[in-house]
Amino acid sequence: MKKVYLDYSATTPLDKRVLDDMIPYLTDVYGNANSVHSFGQEASYAVDNARRTIAECINAKRTEVYFTSGGTEANNWAIKGISVRYGKISGRNHIITSAIEHPSILESVKYMSNHGFEVTYLPVNSDGIIEEDVLRKAISEKTVLVSIMTANNEIGSIQPIKELAKIAHEYGALFHTDAVQAMNSIKADVRDTNVDLMSFSGHKIYGPKGVGVLYVKSGIKPDKFMIGGHQERTMRGGTTNVPAVVGMASALKYTVAEMEENNAKIRQARDHFIDRIKSEIPHIRINGGMKNRVVGNANVTFEYIEGESLLLSLDLMGIACSSGSACSSGSLEPSHVLMAIGVPIEIAHGSIRFSFGKDTTISDVDYVVDNLKSAVERLRLMSPLTKK
Ligand SMILES: *Cc1c(COP(=O)(O)O)cnc(C)c1O
Repeated sequence: MKKVYLDYSATTPLDKRVLDDMIPYLTDVYGNANSVHSFGQEASYAVDNARRTIAECINAKRTEVYFTSGGTEANNWAIKGISVRYGKISGRNHIITSAIEHPSILESVKYMSNHGFEVTYLPVNSDGIIEEDVLRKAISEKTVLVSIMTANNEIGSIQPIKELAKIAHEYGALFHTDAVQAMNSIKADVRDTNVDLMSFSGHKIYGPKGVGVLYVKSGIKPDKFMIGGHQERTMRGGTTNVPAVVGMASALKYTVAEMEENNAKIRQARDHFIDRIKSEIPHIRINGGMKNRVVGNANVTFEYIEGESLLLSLDLMGIACSSGSACSSGSLEPSHVLMAIGVPIEIAHGSIRFSFGKDTTISDVDYVVDNLKSAVERLRLMSPLTKK
């Protein structure tokens, strides 16, 4: 049976070239990067190189790059580390985020709200975008941190990060962005956007799982998150995961170098998918706007159908996609992102995220659409939701 993976927003396959770059550090070069002997030195040299590569890719300094165990940890650290420390220094106790953030942000701000911080969740428009005026109305001299994702994981909407960071700075607040879903298709330049902190992750850019980065602008000092050894200039204790760090740098280097070419190819596959389903499957809606949207995302509501049933039918045909986000699938709650852009609750359950990647071909897309058509037709015939 043909297999087609359209869940690149949940995770990506490891690029073989990245694996090749990692292998020496999973085998021969096994020293602890903190040891002073030659075994350690060799590992430490690789970590330094990885840090330099990553810094160059995002236009940062080497000393502004901190390795973490992934996007989730980087987000936890940014939210908790900044609000705890700068809340103490400045007496500010207000955090602003958006209604459509990843659970690692939403749960971290909720944690802070249980520890005396006030949290504002900015609404988005029907395209899934935060308008600048909405932030202007919410922010005050009490705001310590604004955290807004660069690109959304469910509907792919891209936020005006540079403009939002500027507003935050006008009020003396710091600005963090979760860029995990953006790194594949949007060139990150922390000097240009002037963000103070930025999170990203290895496994969403064809790198290894379990490694991420928090960029922290020089001069800014969040509270330490993982305390212990002297790793990461004492800011993040724990023996460095050398092969993962090497893989992360290698993955980002290829991602940046091949971005334009991959974007063009992925956009073509995604648009072909949308064009076909729009003309061949009735009663659907594309969620989110098409203008400011990452190239690899299509989020579709199929009316009169349960998304989970459709997901299972597609899985039987070898097709992998996702209902809402991988993190919330399995729960009966409708997606908070679809609710925020105003998808009616009765039909939100019939929504599926298709995410395309650099290995997706037009023939993969045709296979998916052909099977999708028949699955949707069959499920609608059986569905009690269908208008008879
Ligand atoms: C996947 C994802 C994360 C979490 O990253 P992990 O490395 O899996 O912990 C955070 N934010 C967004 C937007 C994501 O898509």
